[in-house]
Amino acid sequence: MKIYPLNKNNGRILQMRRINPCIPFLFFMLVFLSACHPVVTAPIPYRGFPTLQSQNAESTATPPPTMVIPTHTPTSPQPTPTIQPIELSATVWEALPQTPILMYHRFNPAQNASSSAYMTTLADFDKQLHALYHAGYSLVSLNDWLRGEIHVPEGRKPLIITIDDLFYADQISLDESGEPAAYSGLGHLWHFYQDHPEFSFKVALFYNMGDKGYLNHYTNGSFSAQPGWREDRARAIAWGIENGAIPLNHFYEHPFLDSLSPQEIHWQMEENDRALRETLALIGKESLAKDLPNILALPYVIWPKTPAGRQILYDYTSPDGAPVAAIMEGGYHPQLFPAPFSPDFDPWHVPRANASPYAIQAIADFAESLPSPTTCDLGKFPDETHMNAEPILKSILNIVNAGHCPYGYYIVGQLAFHVHENGIIQLSP
Ligand SMILES: [Zn+2]
Repeated sequence: MKIYPLNKNNGRILQMRRINPCIPFLFFMLVFLSACHPVVTAPIPYRGFPTLQSQNAESTATPPPTMVIPTHTPTSPQPTPTIQPIELSATVWEALPQTPILMYHRFNPAQNASSSAYMTTLADFDKQLHALYHAGYSLVSLNDWLRGEIHVPEGRKPLIITIDDLFYADQISLDESGEPAAYSGLGHLWHFYQDHPEFSFKVALFYNMGDKGYLNHYTNGSFSAQPGWREDRARAIAWGIENGAIPLNHFYEHPFLDSLSPQEIHWQMEENDRALRETLALIGKESLAKDLPNILALPYVIWPKTPAGRQILYDYTSPDGAPVAAIMEGGYHPQLFPAPFSPDFDPWHVPRANASPYAIQAIADFAESLPSPTTCDLGKFPDETHMNAEPILKSILNIVNAGHCPYGYYIVGQLAFHVHENGIIQLSP
């Protein structure tokens, strides 16, 4: 984390590098750290975490060295590449963002069915999406939240939706045209998003590759397994990754972790990851897995019994090298999960509420009390440097000094800053 403390001078903020005054105290005042641990210096623990936006990084990687046979020196002048300046704007939170997190399971497309604790009818799901949308919510991806990349449209409130126990066809299926099927939960979420783009389409899918049957055909109101179900499941998973429905680890066989040894717990995570990659490889799309986040959800919200078992979770690294970023729990009462800039941020106990009518109503009711962002235009930046922190930081500083935008948390793409009356600090990455 870079820190740019600033001094006030004649009512204006001036940028000045100096040592964080907390640092000298750290060595002998560790016990009294609370006074030296303001919100603005809270580290973002997962910087460098692979991002979905970097999925095309392959094309920009340095190519292997090749032998070049010298030929004549070109005489024609090289064309100067045209630099297109781009307009940047910041999502500005004057108060620390907080989000409720919903937990769904299965969906029932039948017309006259009723919802239960772990089964939501598609008719009820539609009503819930409308209620949440009209209460002011827009979706944020779980992984973006954990990295502090917290954007929703101006005036909207963040909401995270998760679905557990995949992959079932009532959760995610594609129709003949490759679109999410109308008889699946994600199909309804996708079509709701098409009609309400402000709601966005970001969802976390906690899967168990070892104990879920995928019934790939839906006719006359019933699901059945037909030849090719593995490929159909793979295509649905790949579509999800390409469109914002991100598969995450819920352990291979949905086990009770308190009854497993640390080695068995490790196998459950690793085998689940391996099976997902094998499934994507069936349709030649294994490369989609390489930037997946590594986030765990505890089956039955049960922790391993021993410290060694719990440590296995914290230490788990995905096959593509991503460390565990968070561990999801769950319950009945909605709680708010703070941004990673908050001292209350605890990625090892991320609270979720089962998506009951009670939880949906409660979440809709407290929307009004939640912070929502404004937008601050930062001006034009040359394209090739537009994500460098330094010029963005300076621009924010000038704009706040000029009184055009308020103090607060400024999120610009993947960069986050905190501007307050004593200065500006880069929070992430
Ligand atoms: Zn589960």
